[in-house]
Amino acid sequence: MSSNGTNGTYQKLTKQIRSYQTLGACAALLSWDEHTLMPSKGAEFRSEQLAMLAGMVHERSTSTEIGDMLSELSSSDITESATSPEAVNVREVTREYNKSKKLSVEFVEELTLATSKGQHAWMEAREKKDFSIFQPYLEKVIALKIKQAETYGYEKDRYDALIDDYEPGATFESIGKVFAAFREELTPFLKSIQDSGNQPKSEIIERNYPVAAQESFGSAAAKTIGFDFEAGRLDVTTHPFCSGIGPGDTRITTRYNPKHFPDAFFGILHAAGHGIYEQGLQTSQFGLPMGQAVSLGIHESQSRMWENLVGRSKPFWNRFYADAQKSFPEALKDVQLDDFYWAVNDVRPSFIRVEADEVTYNLHIILRFEMERAIINEEIAVADIPEAWNEKFTKFFGITPPDDTLGCIQDVHWSAGLMGYFPTYALGNLYAAQFFAKALIDMPNMYDNFEKGQFGDLKKWLNENIHVHGQRYPAEKLVEVVTGKPLSHIEEMKYLRKKYNPLYGI
Ligand code: ZN
Repeated sequence: MSSNGTNGTYQKLTKQIRSYQTLGACAALLSWDEHTLMPSKGAEFRSEQLAMLAGMVHERSTSTEIGDMLSELSSSDITESATSPEAVNVREVTREYNKSKKLSVEFVEELTLATSKGQHAWMEAREKKDFSIFQPYLEKVIALKIKQAETYGYEKDRYDALIDDYEPGATFESIGKVFAAFREELTPFLKSIQDSGNQPKSEIIERNYPVAAQESFGSAAAKTIGFDFEAGRLDVTTHPFCSGIGPGDTRITTRYNPKHFPDAFFGILHAAGHGIYEQGLQTSQFGLPMGQAVSLGIHESQSRMWENLVGRSKPFWNRFYADAQKSFPEALKDVQLDDFYWAVNDVRPSFIRVEADEVTYNLHIILRFEMERAIINEEIAVADIPEAWNEKFTKFFGITPPDDTLGCIQDVHWSAGLMGYFPTYALGNLYAAQFFAKALIDMPNMYDNFEKGQFGDLKKWLNENIHVHGQRYPAEKLVEVVTGKPLSHIEEMKYLRKKYNPLYGI
């Protein structure tokens, strides 16, 4: 094949990919609308619209023509240099193509139906605090996920096949090694915080925080850290998310609690972090792997960096606290900055993952990671999940969930078939700490700039070191390229100790 022919094929391939990815973007917009603006009676027709688009995308993305072009290009000189945009795009599209091809349309439909029913049963089980309502539906979902893992195939552990959908290349073993070392330091660290007997005045953040003021204060902060509101929007949903629709259009959402300040504010910073990543991707590579996020773990590292390492830092509040007092005079007029700072950094074991602090959050994830692996490998029967959960929870946190709503049925993930997703949350924390430590070496005055309200250096650093690469490197390689070291818990623990030792006097 002449190189002209190869180039022609590459152009044709990217054109077709962009076309089905554009269809996917239409679906993403419809889905955004479903969660924010759509009247409730439109739900049924919206499912039809989304199912039709999903079918079209699946059909186009798994066509024989695409397959032929991919195999022609894989053996051509256009993919010779492994990290060139062309090679990356061909490699990653081939990977996705081979995976999608393995699943039959019947299987995809069966899983979609089972997870849709599973989510309804999950909601009912939560309302009635009764796991047994959910159990038969979860059994069905788990059986299908096991089938999916077996269809994909794996080398060592069945769970690996599922992790790969969210954190390509990672395995139970590779993540498990990092988590085990992390937990070994985290558990005694948490104990020393609890043993200190010190606690912040947590009622400060439970005072009256009017929604309108939260919205303008939160948006202003998102704008200041670098979320581009001319290329994005902030709206309200029950379950916050970020959706990168396409070039120039990234949607983030939050929910407001007038009696609890952190929910919306840190939620906005979190979503804005995801949004800044989406806005930092190369628009010329839209729809192609070079213009897409690497993995959920890396995506989460961006949100958690802005939410926690920046947004819950003292320098950040040195800049923003006076504004907060102006926005919430009733709640904060008599509150000192130090008390507020500590209140938004309150560490204590609790039952609910999404309400957990920076320290205990990781333990919530490690618990789910170990449970998922055991469930997928049929070492824990679905009927025994509540008991296994409570036993593990007690071991990890020293407290026992009084009911399953505060235990094994608090998260939507399993009902939706998202097995293998959980570890990416804690990986995000670890990646974030490691990237941030390197950014501090490259830009030693970064914290001073935060105090002045300048966040542009960090955003630029992330754009240049992470966002611009798209999927050039797998996540585990990217962290090495950027920081010079493989992923570990070391920087995260350093960060936690440096922050919390003085707060708790340990
Ligand atoms: Zn997130």
